[in-house]
Amino acid sequence: MTVVFILIDGLRPDAIDTADCPQLAALRERGAATMSARSVMPSVTLPCHTSIFHSVPPTRHGITSNDWQPMARPLLGLFDLAHAAGKRCAFFYNWEQLRDIGRPGSLELSFFRNTAYQADGDQIIADEAARYLAAEQFDFAFVYLGTVDSAGHHYGWMSEGYLGQLATVDVALGTLLPALPAGSTVLLQSDHGGHERNHGTEMLEDMTIPWIVAGPGIRAGHTITSPVSLLDTAPTLARLLGIAPHREWEGRCVEEIFERVKG
Ligand SMILES: [Zn+2]
Repeated sequence: MTVVFILIDGLRPDAIDTADCPQLAALRERGAATMSARSVMPSVTLPCHTSIFHSVPPTRHGITSNDWQPMARPLLGLFDLAHAAGKRCAFFYNWEQLRDIGRPGSLELSFFRNTAYQADGDQIIADEAARYLAAEQFDFAFVYLGTVDSAGHHYGWMSEGYLGQLATVDVALGTLLPALPAGSTVLLQSDHGGHERNHGTEMLEDMTIPWIVAGPGIRAGHTITSPVSLLDTAPTLARLLGIAPHREWEGRCVEEIFERVKG
């Protein structure tokens, strides 16, 4: 079974109900989801991704801007633990500052194109991810799509241009999702939201993110009621991969997403 983690950078949950995005709406319908998960401060891309993959807040890992630096107190992240457990991991992305979210040696496949600033940039990533994930067996894949954030900075969050770019990315999801191996589990979220032409603050518009999981054994059409933080992503993905979370991770597996065993 393949676990696929998809991140749409800068996606606000209220955009899913406003933009033309049938793929996202359908994924939410067939899975367990919350539209009020929480980001971390600063609500900035690289600090958020470091927190997502290492399940600790920026005050713990020390990366507080988009300029990568060695972690203040290093700890292993999801890619590292998955690799150590013998899992085959792949990473597809279009914003290169993310290259250090796993330690060197943890990936079987890494695909990068610098396309986060062009309208068809996520389609290019989705096409490659679809091609590789359909052809080869991976245990875990991370697909990062960066163009919605770029549109937010350019046109403004929730503007026509921003919502139009989300519709474009939804078409790319329509390429990727049907290409995944049967029985795949998908976790889709964003790293932060945005307001006006920026993000990074503690405002609700910046801090509130969608968090959606769908697949075998996951409750369908379920609205998650317990609080979810992006620190909970790595422990939840670890559970889905059948590996133990790192003892220093601060998030928790979101138990509520799982179907209860009958009998
Ligand atoms: Zn971001």
